Amino acid sequence: MNTTELKAAVDKRRTFAIISHPDAGKTTITEQMLLFGGVVRQAGTVKARKSGNFAKSDWMEIEKKRGISVTSSVMQFDYDGKRINILDTPGHEDFSEDTYRTLMAVDSAIMVIDSAKGIEPQTKKLFQICKMRGIPIFTFMNKLDRDGREPLDLLNEVEEVLGIETYPMNWPIGMGKGLKGLYDRYNHRVELYHNEAHGETFLPLDDEGKLDPSNDLTKDSIYRDVLDEMELIEEAGNDFNEAKITSGDLTPVFFGSALTNFGVETFLKTYLNYAPKPNVHKTRDDELIKPTDDEFTGFVFKIQANMNPNHRDRIAFVRICSGEFDRGMDVYLQRTGKKMRLNNSTQFMADTRETVETAVAGDIVGLYDTGNFQIGDTIYAGKHAVQFEKLPQFTPELFMRVNAKNVMKQKSFHKGIEQLVQEGAVQLYTSYSTGDYILGAVGQLQFEVFKFRMQNEYNSEVVMEPMGNKTARWIDPEQLDEKMSSSRNLLVKDRNGEPLFLFENAFAERWFQEKYPDVKLTAKL
Ligand code: GDP
Repeated sequence: MNTTELKAAVDKRRTFAIISHPDAGKTTITEQMLLFGGVVRQAGTVKARKSGNFAKSDWMEIEKKRGISVTSSVMQFDYDGKRINILDTPGHEDFSEDTYRTLMAVDSAIMVIDSAKGIEPQTKKLFQICKMRGIPIFTFMNKLDRDGREPLDLLNEVEEVLGIETYPMNWPIGMGKGLKGLYDRYNHRVELYHNEAHGETFLPLDDEGKLDPSNDLTKDSIYRDVLDEMELIEEAGNDFNEAKITSGDLTPVFFGSALTNFGVETFLKTYLNYAPKPNVHKTRDDELIKPTDDEFTGFVFKIQANMNPNHRDRIAFVRICSGEFDRGMDVYLQRTGKKMRLNNSTQFMADTRETVETAVAGDIVGLYDTGNFQIGDTIYAGKHAVQFEKLPQFTPELFMRVNAKNVMKQKSFHKGIEQLVQEGAVQLYTSYSTGDYILGAVGQLQFEVFKFRMQNEYNSEVVMEPMGNKTARWIDPEQLDEKMSSSRNLLVKDRNGEPLFLFENAFAERWFQEKYPDVKLTAKL
């Protein structure tokens, strides 16, 4: 590709994730988008992933889940002249640090909220990571075909709980059984609701934002209520401000129903008007790498191991930041300086796993890996060595004490732990007083996978003792006195040797702060 072609290719890319609490409708909306993209997909393929009863100890089940989730980790398709990459943020049982790290590789996010439930805990956590990155966030208030909360109430909640301004792009005309349509402020029209999953009718609005009086809807009191509410919002609501959208300080809000495909396509089209192209990425030397820079660069944001012992390969997911990726190209792995040829790569098309030939900034490629890569690694081609900024460390909330079952097998136990921790599968802490190993994770499944892989790949059977939820707080080593540790605030070291306390609960933390008012405790993300 020459410079002009590269620029045109980059300009088309839109890379985003959909964040939500389980059951808000992320899968349903994703499938609708794939349909708009003309992606031939068996109905329910995305859904198959999260099927049914998940027995925690059933390795086959884990394998199946993880096997399938490789293909749905990234879904690429073309729509409306854009090439879209949707990155899946694993939820439910496989909610983990991977879910957080995926957000490091996107340029914007869609937040799906169940309009009957409002903000739920998982949405809040994921939102905070998007906010920290300062990326644009678009909100879809889903399930309008059911009775939900008042639209104003939902907007207020987003503003108060998440601390972001809102701008309603449309407004529901009724809801549940009384749903009549959407008053589309942005496109200046009314989208009529059809009970079936297809068919769209748009009615234009006049200069005053009103429907033609001959339309029956104008006689409905609900329509007049909507006009009143719109007037109120025009006066008292936030202004549409593109700069604030770009900086992640204002979220455009769309109402709709993913299941009945109502308002979804309008949402996608409008979203794509504002969703940013691939971003610049900063290196540790404060250099800005532009997506249209000639030399190829990228970073590893996720590593997924194959659970099948017969295929002990892993896939390193690389977000391309600049240049052109060609299969078979030579790159350098910054951390080791080692040169490697990328023969074995995969790109994630929405319907199949295909071998990728070329890809550009914004795209994700999967590299088959035999243990060379670590999360956060930078790869680059050409003479100019770059190293992207460190990925943030996410604070686990679940903890387990771990031991080798067979004390004679300490060597494989240590080797396994070391490698799995490097891969980012779990986090490791060491108790100050006893030297015990403590594992930390964001989701329960991480422990199950850890145990399984220790046994399968390192032939090390482990015993794990749950310690439950804890709050991790780092302490300045200068202020540390080992006597501060107790059973309610266990003192441990992280991977980097930095000290922190694992507090039993918020009460224990407050108690500690009252006892040692001068000690500064810090939370990581
Ligand atoms: P996810 O967990 O966020 O991926 O949620 P799903 O997309 O799997 O949806 C969870 C449940 O809500 C499923 O039973 C969907 O059929 C249902 N659902 C999704 N969108 C809508 C909607 O717009 N209206 C209604 N009534 N149900 C919906």
